[in-house]
Amino acid sequence: MIPKLRGHHLICLQFFQGEGYNEEFVDNLGMIRQLIRDEPVEISAGPDDICRKCPYLENDVCGYNERAEEEIREMDERALRLLGAATGSRAAWDEIREKLPMIFHEWHTLYCKVCHWRGACEKGDFYRRLKNTCLTESV
Ligand code: SF4
Repeated sequence: MIPKLRGHHLICLQFFQGEGYNEEFVDNLGMIRQLIRDEPVEISAGPDDICRKCPYLENDVCGYNERAEEEIREMDERALRLLGAATGSRAAWDEIREKLPMIFHEWHTLYCKVCHWRGACEKGDFYRRLKNTCLTESV
């Protein structure tokens, strides 16, 4: 099975630290992370293989809050633009990872600063390294 991932998950999943909404959601994330080590991912639009186990997904719409669906779609578009990737194409996980140092400053400024999951991402070395680099650059 080739995992389908939407735009913003191509970035955010890089920093997964084993935390999430509930056990089923976290187990699924962990399984997808394993799969994409060796398999390419298929870039999809809208709810993906991560969203399918999310307790907030209802009728293919994100119900996290009133504006969530719109905001997440904007995030997806921005992620794809930053990564130079397109819906319907395939990408290798390591290739996406290699692009992150070039785009992280913008991503962090736009999204991480107001994200509820920032505390989890900040537990990871890779995230902290990228963050330190972008903070140094902005001084
Ligand atoms: S802090 Fe939020 S927006 Fe930033 S990478 Fe982590 S999950 Fe994504």
